[in-house]
Amino acid sequence: MPAATLRHLHIVLGDQLDPTASGFDGFDPQQDAIWMAEVDEESTHVPSSKQRIALFLSAMRHAAHAWRSQGMTVHYQPIDAADNTGSLAGELDRSIRQLRPQGLIMTAPGEWRVLQALRTTAQAHGLPLDVREDRHFMSSVRDFADHARGRKQIRMEYWYREMRTRHSVLMEGSPPQPIGGKWNFDEDNRESFGKEGPQIRRVPLRHAPDDITREVIDLVNRRFGEHPGTLAASADGFGWPVTRPQALQSLDDFMSHRLPHFGRHQDAMWTGEPWLYHAHIASALNIKLLDPREVIASAEQAYHAGRAELAAVEGFVRQILGWREYVRGIYWTRMPEYLECNALAADQDLPGFFWTGETEANCLRQAIGQTLRHGYAHHIQRLMVTGLYGLLLGVHPKAMHAWYLGVYVDAVEWVELPNTLGMSQFGDGGLMASKPYAASGKYIDRMSNYCAGCRYRPAEATGPDACPFTTLYWDFLMRHEARLAKNPRMVMQVRNLSRIPEERREAIRLKAAAIRRAT
Ligand code: SF4
Repeated sequence: MPAATLRHLHIVLGDQLDPTASGFDGFDPQQDAIWMAEVDEESTHVPSSKQRIALFLSAMRHAAHAWRSQGMTVHYQPIDAADNTGSLAGELDRSIRQLRPQGLIMTAPGEWRVLQALRTTAQAHGLPLDVREDRHFMSSVRDFADHARGRKQIRMEYWYREMRTRHSVLMEGSPPQPIGGKWNFDEDNRESFGKEGPQIRRVPLRHAPDDITREVIDLVNRRFGEHPGTLAASADGFGWPVTRPQALQSLDDFMSHRLPHFGRHQDAMWTGEPWLYHAHIASALNIKLLDPREVIASAEQAYHAGRAELAAVEGFVRQILGWREYVRGIYWTRMPEYLECNALAADQDLPGFFWTGETEANCLRQAIGQTLRHGYAHHIQRLMVTGLYGLLLGVHPKAMHAWYLGVYVDAVEWVELPNTLGMSQFGDGGLMASKPYAASGKYIDRMSNYCAGCRYRPAEATGPDACPFTTLYWDFLMRHEARLAKNPRMVMQVRNLSRIPEERREAIRLKAAAIRRAT
């Protein structure tokens, strides 16, 4: 298409691969073109893992290929093009100069930083940038702002109930009531595996890399060889869905084989078992290869067909319809200030072993090891192993945020930041979580077999075999005792702390200081 005839450039980012998105509304192949750019900055502004970079680049290249074959013009800038400027703003600036579009259109992006950069570039050229509501989500930011108005704390549970009612999900009767008479089956969903461990009979579907993905894997290993994690051209070395058909297969694989076991064991962990009964579709959802409505409908069908119990289905639906929409609302109603929150004044650096997995603490070795291998860990490994360690040690929330955003294949800032800074690190001081998720090594011992294979002892807070989580747990309570004593949900923990004599407190403090020095 000659540049002079170009009407709209439709900007499509790596997490916007749904061709039915609002950013495509009105697209006319005769007058309009798609714009996509691979840039170093999106892999280096936080050090991204090889798995994450490969996922985004491969999925973008597959999408561009599909759209071109449908007759659309795609202006696509590869990351290794000689004239690549390295940033989205730089690439958009160059494209505007070359193509001279009359306007820019896009679906609302998933990151505040990116929106600002693109707006600034459009303004510099005096071009209108039409940023459209992201219909992928089942609520708008305005819906969430209305819900949050006047509330000091914004609890997911009430938002989730509102969403269940509004979208008639797992509801029955008139007036509509939650199926099963309860909104929440959490107490059924906290079982460990017991001594026998998980009885996994079927390995989750992984997708063998095709030619496009193999090329990307080779590129990422050459260009980002120093970045965290590993990446190889096999289903085990990189098996994430990068096309919509693959994403649908992954969804079906979960619904058919793991959903029935998901609920009961959703918080459990096991040595050498990275996948367990989880869905592994978050990356496909977050780059918009799947629609949350079809995912929820599929889970509801499994329940109504008697293929999965209500507790499992409800627990899963809550993640998609409740939690996912909730964190997005928190992000867009609180940014950019949210990024600066640090309610507990945490100031430690991220321990170096987060980038290597080389630590004697087995739980951390397992969770970080699989993260670096696959770009994946499930929510309890993130919240109650790596996140817990950061919270107890006192790592700066921004350092934790940069790690989580960089290493996980499903990480886009709208979902990652509130999960890390608010939920896991209590950096927002209780806007999201009613209390800090602080626990000792005993929690990890109860929910996994990690401690059985560890040189430390989860019940010990001092001495040569002291579990670092247990030492740091008591140290955390001591450091924040005055604040935590005011929190009704921390009464028991603070009371237990008050029973510890000063001499033992000092021994714990010294041990915690030694752990900090060593990390
Ligand atoms: Fe983790 Fe402590 Fe258990 Fe070791 S003993 S696996 S460090 S919780």
